[in-house]
Amino acid sequence: MIDLRSDTVTRPTAGMREAIARADVGDDVYGEDPTVNALETAGAAMLDKEAGLYVPSGTQSNLLALLSHCGRGDEYIVGQAAHTYRFEGGGAAALGGIQPQPLEFEADGTLDLDRVTANIKPDDFHFAVTRLLCLENTTGGKALPLSYLTDARALCNRHRIGLHLDGARFFNAVVATGVSAETLAEPFDSVSVCLSKGLGAPVGSLLIGTEAFIASARRWRKMVGGGMRQAGVIAAAGLYALEHHVERLADDHRHAAAVAAAVADKFGDDAVAHDTNMVHVHLPETAYARLRDHLQQHGVTVRRPRWVFHLDIDDSDVDLLITMIESFTPAE
Ligand SMILES: *Cc1c(COP(=O)(O)O)cnc(C)c1O
Repeated sequence: MIDLRSDTVTRPTAGMREAIARADVGDDVYGEDPTVNALETAGAAMLDKEAGLYVPSGTQSNLLALLSHCGRGDEYIVGQAAHTYRFEGGGAAALGGIQPQPLEFEADGTLDLDRVTANIKPDDFHFAVTRLLCLENTTGGKALPLSYLTDARALCNRHRIGLHLDGARFFNAVVATGVSAETLAEPFDSVSVCLSKGLGAPVGSLLIGTEAFIASARRWRKMVGGGMRQAGVIAAAGLYALEHHVERLADDHRHAAAVAAAVADKFGDDAVAHDTNMVHVHLPETAYARLRDHLQQHGVTVRRPRWVFHLDIDDSDVDLLITMIESFTPAE
């Protein structure tokens, strides 16, 4: 079975399971779980920030960030297709009274900074108070350029608003750009990193920022039911992932590039886009359905339009996949 639906489908490796079995634990709500504490410290250190918070999911991590940066009646500026706007169940609005100001992403995954500026509300009681700009890196697999992030920081400083990063795939951006994690995180007040995507942990995310910010997020985490007890059992997997699974993300990027090249050979360059660990296949619906069925018959599961590469896909899987694409007959 080759499952390309998402990089969330990975299963813990033997080494990771061993780390889980060996994990030292305590009650994390009392701050007494040594493995959780080690994970939070390690994550913060990797991004050169003061503190980290281990949370059950990326959705909760972003929610805690929004609740910590914004109050009731405040707003955050965010991509129309961003996870923090579109795919988190309206949590910020439902639980925080926080209003989104969505803007279309540009083709490169950035938000146009002039449009961001134009959407920061003046100090006038007709408007919500703009508190935060929220970016995503990678977004749709695209890694944002450092110069853009630096410009976004300058904008936020000028307008005295915060800058949060939904870095679900932050380390894919680090590996793809060759820019260090510290440097890529530097412009942001807070960063959320998923451990359960390409890093291959079964569960969990890290929220990272200043001591004061994390203290606030910790309070909100308890309030939304994210305070866990002997969470070291799962945090051990996250710690193992940070130690062993960052550099290997380059393999996923290489695999995605190879498969994208095979798709381009078969269907033409316009039918495919490749960024980091994702391949977007753009075919008419019926053609795509035929390709999907062909792959499914050979044990490959894909969604439309995005194929996502991860820890459980190795070189031989990729060779097999390329052979399947080559052997596909597009139309009768
Ligand atoms: C997966 C994802 C999240 C949320 O993570 P969950 O753990 O699934 O809640 C947030 N942002 C992006 C960009 C993601 O891909």
